[in-house]
Amino acid sequence: MKTCRRESTRAAVFTENALRQKVFLLITLAITASGMLLWRPTLVASESAPPIAEKVRREHPRIWLTPEDWRRLPFRREQDGFPAKEYEDLRRFAYSQSFNPNLWVTPDQAIATLVVFLMEKQDPALRPRIDRFTDYLCTAEGDSWTRLRMLKALAITYDWLHPLLSPKEKDRLIRRMQEVVEVMKKQYRHSDYNNHVYLEYGPLVYAALALAHEEASPWATELLAECDQMLKQHFIPTVNQLGGGKPGQKGEGGWHESMSYFSFFAYELAHQMEAWRTATGEDLFAMCPGLGGAGRWLLYCTRPFDNSFAPIADIETPARWGHQETAYLWLLAQRYRDPFAQWVANHTPLRYPFHIWPKILWFDASIREVQRESLPTGCLFPGVGWASFRSDWGPEAIWGVFVCGDSFAGHQHADQNSFVLSAGEELLVDAGQYGAKAAEFHNTLLIGGGQRVLGNDPRQFVGPTVPGGPFDTGDILAFQENPRFTMVVGDASNAYGRFEKGRRIDPRPTFIRRLLFLKPDVLVLDDYVVPPTPATPVSVLFHFPQAPAIDGDMIRYAGARSSLEMLRIWPPSLPAEAIAVSEEVAGQQKRRSVRVTVSLPSQSVQRNLWVMAVGKADHPPHLKDRLKILSATAEMISLSVRLAEGATVQLDLPLPDWTQATIAYEGDPIISTDRPWPLAAGVLPFTAEGLALIERWDRAYHAGNRPAWDTGRPSSDLRQAIAEKWLQPGRALELGCGTGTNAIYLAEQGFDVTAIDLAPTALAIARDKAKKAGVSVRWLLGDVLNPPSYLPKFDYVYDRGCYHGVRRTAAAEYIATLRRVTKPGSRVLILAGNANEPGTGGPPRVREEEIREDFSRDFHILRLEPTRFDTPSSDRQGALAWTILLERKATP
Ligand code: SAH
Repeated sequence: MKTCRRESTRAAVFTENALRQKVFLLITLAITASGMLLWRPTLVASESAPPIAEKVRREHPRIWLTPEDWRRLPFRREQDGFPAKEYEDLRRFAYSQSFNPNLWVTPDQAIATLVVFLMEKQDPALRPRIDRFTDYLCTAEGDSWTRLRMLKALAITYDWLHPLLSPKEKDRLIRRMQEVVEVMKKQYRHSDYNNHVYLEYGPLVYAALALAHEEASPWATELLAECDQMLKQHFIPTVNQLGGGKPGQKGEGGWHESMSYFSFFAYELAHQMEAWRTATGEDLFAMCPGLGGAGRWLLYCTRPFDNSFAPIADIETPARWGHQETAYLWLLAQRYRDPFAQWVANHTPLRYPFHIWPKILWFDASIREVQRESLPTGCLFPGVGWASFRSDWGPEAIWGVFVCGDSFAGHQHADQNSFVLSAGEELLVDAGQYGAKAAEFHNTLLIGGGQRVLGNDPRQFVGPTVPGGPFDTGDILAFQENPRFTMVVGDASNAYGRFEKGRRIDPRPTFIRRLLFLKPDVLVLDDYVVPPTPATPVSVLFHFPQAPAIDGDMIRYAGARSSLEMLRIWPPSLPAEAIAVSEEVAGQQKRRSVRVTVSLPSQSVQRNLWVMAVGKADHPPHLKDRLKILSATAEMISLSVRLAEGATVQLDLPLPDWTQATIAYEGDPIISTDRPWPLAAGVLPFTAEGLALIERWDRAYHAGNRPAWDTGRPSSDLRQAIAEKWLQPGRALELGCGTGTNAIYLAEQGFDVTAIDLAPTALAIARDKAKKAGVSVRWLLGDVLNPPSYLPKFDYVYDRGCYHGVRRTAAAEYIATLRRVTKPGSRVLILAGNANEPGTGGPPRVREEEIREDFSRDFHILRLEPTRFDTPSSDRQGALAWTILLERKATP
């Protein structure tokens, strides 16, 4: 299964949302002359849908527990994995008299005590303590930070104690909740992309759920409808946009404001969603794959040497996993059956005994923790444009995160195509600073000044990023993970230049950066820059914790535990004054860093290439002894470098067509110097399952194997289509091209051919064959289900034997790809297995109805006829097939 093909689903979700939001936006704008947004989502409540209040169960409890869960709760202590010792500590806390009024903490303590109350079969001995919490929460003066916490504890008290409360007590709680809700609603502000909304207003959900159906609180019904919209049209789509994933599955995770801000609200959102589920029966987790990636994100982007969050996007002080993580990750582990969340929750230290209550409610011992050692060491987070890489899972690992994504403003500061690096300590840092406007730029390029910086919260409502618009600041063009290397390519061209009223007013530069991590210890950084004018100054930034030593083309950083060498390969020579060192002091915490600025010579096209190696403090990497420059021009740099574990890697890095780079390992049977692998030209599958899929396909081509489908001759159906002039020279794309026989044939017939496959060995063979045939084809190592964003529209698409396989799990994604790469009138020729021939084995088989269903919405089916696959030897008859000839319809 693959996890990186959610464009289409996402797009669909957002079109729907965008429509609703347009209405919402218009109405909101109309009523907010001052620009201060009032919270009025009920104005667009659909009249046809049954009111959400009808779905809320009549009996209590509703929040986090159904009546059945409630009865069963005391018996959890008999279950496997019940945290008996931690529960004892919690119990001791609940029965103690400790009371230290503090609105940040006491509400959580009240909930912890209520959990013990239920566990102890409603021991009346706990009532006085619970009442004391309630008294406090009913009288304390909160503020915008704490009112939400009070409300949550009050609502849960009301809900869980409902049968035990006197009418007077109920009345008091209802009145208090109403007061708090009114103040909270009045203060409503912020955008969907700002953590405050989730934290400060999301908890309205608890009051709405606890008080639904009460005569004394008729306002709860309206509040519930508002919360329904808040969750489904704002919170969940936003978290999905950033965290990714298909409905019913898990995304990769990610949040643009930094990991701290995510932790700050994600536990709240998860609690709200769980309350909604138990009260209404609606499973919002299934609608919110983006939240399901939280555990993965935390695991990959936590810094190994001190377990603190990746210091990216305005984290000034190191923050670590803590009670915010345990508050919800056992719940996420259970709801998404997610081994990442289970790992993080289980490995987070508890500070206070009362923090354990979420484990009492939600821990599910049947969810196994992820086995870190068996995970890929690199991972992409496409929603935020982060790519994490590391040498291993140990605390001293070489580790980093590369960033190139859209801007959603909030706290995030603009540093696209930047990265951080550590190994037992920080090496290259983002000395982040609070506030988007006050951004410093780190470990990226300045092209005529900094990158574009947007003010706080310019995007009010969730919606797709307009390509080329002000918020489109970065795209990950390619990502590739395997046991030997992690590679990411980012395009930050759009991050530069000013916009006015949503329109670009400065010319756009080109800035494409490749970061290749050759496990375990070498990195290659290769930038391609076309400044808006040849005179525009371009400089390269690196930020270190302390001053490095600079010696000609070498920068050496000596830390306490590690050492880093960075060798500039291109430009090969620079005047001494091109390199400047300065100290920077940033942020409220006055974080210091030392910045090295390398000014590139003014040119219409620039390249900036560095090779870096990390060693121990007492064992510097001696990079110069390990590196050979085989040839170097601005257009092609070939080099070889010996890695710490002995392997020697050879790289050919051409520009401007970065997609044609190759990698080879000396003495390696698969990625060999005889037949170098292409590096990815798009985002390849990168989860463990995705890597297994690539490996499975690639293995078919290893060691001179020729898979059964690879006949070595152009396919009869393609020859016939050309003979009949269905296809005439033009721009053609082949999907799943294998070793390229048909792509080469098309090129020989005068077509301008691009061909994609995800098996590197197949493409390496294809490249060799094309060279021998003397034709040029643009070979792209990529995923047809997640095609590179830069692909143009094609006149023709050809597919022999790829569609029939991928449609079994990803028909919608395949169709979305066809839509993306065609225009009205484009023709598509597909050869696929035919289900009219019974039996198993051979190619996957497709039924006529399935073909019609897949294509007829977007394409005219010009021809759908049975035929047979060619076989390697012309005397053997191949499997029954379909010739499918499509023409893209004029209208969508
Ligand atoms: N068209 C070629 C190969 C057919 S076999 C021929 O006729 O010989 C199917 C090919 O599709 C394999 O080479 C496999 O690597 C490729 N493939 C499978 N899934 C893919 C995906 N998601 N993206 C790109 N290529 C894929």
